[in-house]
Amino acid sequence: MYFISTRGGERVTGAQAIVQGLAKNGGLYVPETFPTLSQAELQDMANMSYSERAAFILGKYLADELGADFLQSACEKAYSSFEGDDPVPLVKVDGETGLYILELFHGPTCAFKDVALQLLPYLLKKSLEVTGVNDDILILAATSGDTGKAALEGFRDVPGTKVAVFYPDEGVAKMQRLQMCVQDGNNVCVAAVKGNFDDCQRAVKKLFASEEFNAELAKRKVRLSSANSINFGRLAPQIAYYFSAYVDLLSAGQIEMGDEIDFVVPTGNFGDILAGWYAKKMGLPVRKLVCASNRNKVLSDFFHKGVYDVKRNFFRTMSPSMDILVSSNLERLLFEISGRNAELTAKRMQQLAEEKEYSITSAEKEILDKEFYAGFATEDGTVDAMFEIFDEYGYAMDTHTGVALAVYMQYYNARTKEDENDNTPTIVLSTANPYKFPQDVLYALSGNDVKDSFKGIKRLNLLTAMKPPKSLIALRYRPLRFKTVVANDLKKMSELILRFADGEIVPVPDKE
Ligand SMILES: *Cc1c(COP(=O)(O)O)cnc(C)c1O
Repeated sequence: MYFISTRGGERVTGAQAIVQGLAKNGGLYVPETFPTLSQAELQDMANMSYSERAAFILGKYLADELGADFLQSACEKAYSSFEGDDPVPLVKVDGETGLYILELFHGPTCAFKDVALQLLPYLLKKSLEVTGVNDDILILAATSGDTGKAALEGFRDVPGTKVAVFYPDEGVAKMQRLQMCVQDGNNVCVAAVKGNFDDCQRAVKKLFASEEFNAELAKRKVRLSSANSINFGRLAPQIAYYFSAYVDLLSAGQIEMGDEIDFVVPTGNFGDILAGWYAKKMGLPVRKLVCASNRNKVLSDFFHKGVYDVKRNFFRTMSPSMDILVSSNLERLLFEISGRNAELTAKRMQQLAEEKEYSITSAEKEILDKEFYAGFATEDGTVDAMFEIFDEYGYAMDTHTGVALAVYMQYYNARTKEDENDNTPTIVLSTANPYKFPQDVLYALSGNDVKDSFKGIKRLNLLTAMKPPKSLIALRYRPLRFKTVVANDLKKMSELILRFADGEIVPVPDKE
């Protein structure tokens, strides 16, 4: 299967798209056509394990090049690192109103990014083999907190690869920072960058585009690749869990084949929800995708007004992985709703870079209105939603999922106003373990403030009786290996990466 750039001009294979990450003209790779699933295939998925389901969905895009057997064994290895029998369990919260939560945080770093990033190293290795690229790969990632750790953990000590992660020094939560700064492995480098996530992501995108920087790396037989959701190899594994959740509802007798359901997605870079939209394009019976934003509500405004406008204040919230103003993956949606008009997509992206805004046509907006519902939650609204669900059902969720729940409640009110019997099953994607944000979660559930994250974990454990992940508790006694802070300056950042590529950055040894 071939992939084309949202900004035109390129046509590459799936393996090339995964190796390259971003198209040369700055566009994102999208499948030339969307493969589809028949109802019989969907039915067959009911009898498969999660690894088999994931391999099956990935195979629709990649089996011709990477091989179905390879995909199967890669998925098995990737998801064996998840805790519990089911890597992505679906929890029924309220059968009456049809509320379900899909827990995507049972991987090694306690956030949903693991679903893709535990698998990506296998996909990338194989893609390098298939395309005959012998260079070493340097994974360069900007992170709003969770991608960085998941990429480090996924690629740690994978031969032929190195991982460099930049996080905004004023952006990530304490646990997220600790997780990254204690990272072990001999092929990793972590640094804070002055500024917020958008600044950080912009700088990293410029490094990807810089000929000079890429030439320096080429001298060292190193080539850049991306672990951000701009990489199709990162997006594809996320499509699978939408199918899997649907099939779980089928198996449990909660829906009949063909019934439409809704999904609610806490959204930042628009990767996760875009994967859901791709699932729909592939034939999954989805009615609405609900896009939930926090106080940084650029996307919610965009869906309501048809104008994407980043000229606004940036807020730090308790859902830092969603503190984003420029959502990269929206470009893939724009490309589709414009009727795959690459020229127009490129023009809009240029407008966004230069004028900080662009608008869509009313015909395009109509498509969005039909397929999406969008809303945002304030910090108070998020806390209230988390409390309400805990109070009523005893279910504790993290702050990002809290944003989704708050928007779900708005959506539920809106749809039952139109039809009071509308109890269409709705799956809220839960993207992080509550213990990753212990102080904020504790505050939301009990009103108690504690000064220290690890105290927060203890209290939260007493309150919820939920088992805290060992990997988070262990952070307390691990020495920091990375303490570097760099200016948001391309020269400084590229120097750092080149020194890392030359093996000159030796982190503080892990004494344990
Ligand atoms: C990354 C992340 C999100 C946002 O996902 P996108 O694909 O960037 O929209 C939401 N919640 C958590 C916990 C995350 O780590």
